[in-house]
Amino acid sequence: MNRQFRSNGNFIRAKKSLGQNFCIDERIPNEIIKELAPNNDFSVWEIGPGKGALTKRLIETGADIHLFEIDKRMEEILESLCPKENITWGDFLELSQEELPKPSKPLLVCGNLPYYCGTPIIKRFLEKGPTPTRLVFLLQHEVAVKASVPVNHKEYSYLSVHTALFAKARIGNKYGPASFVPRPKIDSSVLIIEPFHLSEEERQKRINALKFISALFNQRRKIALSTLKRTFPETNWAEKFSKLGIDEKARPENISPEQFLELFTD
Ligand code: SAM
Repeated sequence: MNRQFRSNGNFIRAKKSLGQNFCIDERIPNEIIKELAPNNDFSVWEIGPGKGALTKRLIETGADIHLFEIDKRMEEILESLCPKENITWGDFLELSQEELPKPSKPLLVCGNLPYYCGTPIIKRFLEKGPTPTRLVFLLQHEVAVKASVPVNHKEYSYLSVHTALFAKARIGNKYGPASFVPRPKIDSSVLIIEPFHLSEEERQKRINALKFISALFNQRRKIALSTLKRTFPETNWAEKFSKLGIDEKARPENISPEQFLELFTD
C-alpha cells in the first residue's frame, strides 16, 4: 500500500494513527457541499481538513471558515488557503468548550472524519454543543448506518437512539476504498444530521436518559424489562412499561427513541 504522495510540493506520509485517508474523489466534496449548503450567511467548521480537499470548495462558497486539524505538517498547505487565526491546531476532542471559537453566524459543521473519532465527535456536538444548523460528515459506513436507522432495523443500536434523541439524521451516498489515498479497508458514507432546537433543560433530560439506554444496549439480546429490574431495582419498571404500552418482552432494539424518552424522563 502506498502511503506517500505529493501535494503543493510537500511530501507527506499519511499517518494511519490519525485516520489519514485523503479524498481523491470529487464526488465527495460535491455531495458534502450540496448537503451542507453553505453561503456567506453561515460560519462553517471543518474538522480534519488534512490537505484541504474539501476546504478549497468551502472557501469558494463565501462562508466564514474555521478549521480544526491535529497534524501540524498540514500548516503550510492550510495557511495558504485560510488565515492563521481561522485554524485551531490539536485534537478536536481535547479542546474544552471555552477553547472553541464563538461563531458569529449560524453554524454548519463538516468533515471527512477519521474512523477512530467519528462517533465521539457526533456525540460531543449533540450533547454539549454548540448546536449547528446542520452537520455533514463522511464516516465509516457502519457508523453512518447505525446513526441513521429506525427502531426494529437490524443495525438499530445505542448510537441510533442517541442521535435520534437530539437530531434528525439520514444517510447519503456510499464510497469505496478507491475514493481515498491510502485506500482504507472499509467503505465510507455521508451522514447528514439536523439537530433539534432543545432547551437546556430538555437537552439535560435526554442526556440523563442515556445512562439507562446504554445499560440496555450493553445487553441488547436480553429482554429490556429484565435488564432494567436487575440494574435499576428502585423503580417499578413493569408498571411504567404497562402504562406506556411497551411490550414486557421487548428487547432494546424494539423500543423506539420516543418510547425510551417516555420511559426515562419524568
Ligand atoms: N479532509 C481531508 C480529506 O478529505 O482528504 C482529510 C481527511 S482524513 C480522513 C482525516 C483528517 O483528520 C486528517 O487530516 C487527520 O490529521 C485529521 N484528524 C485526525 N484526528 C483528529 C482529531 N482528533 N482532531 C482534529 N483533526 C484530526
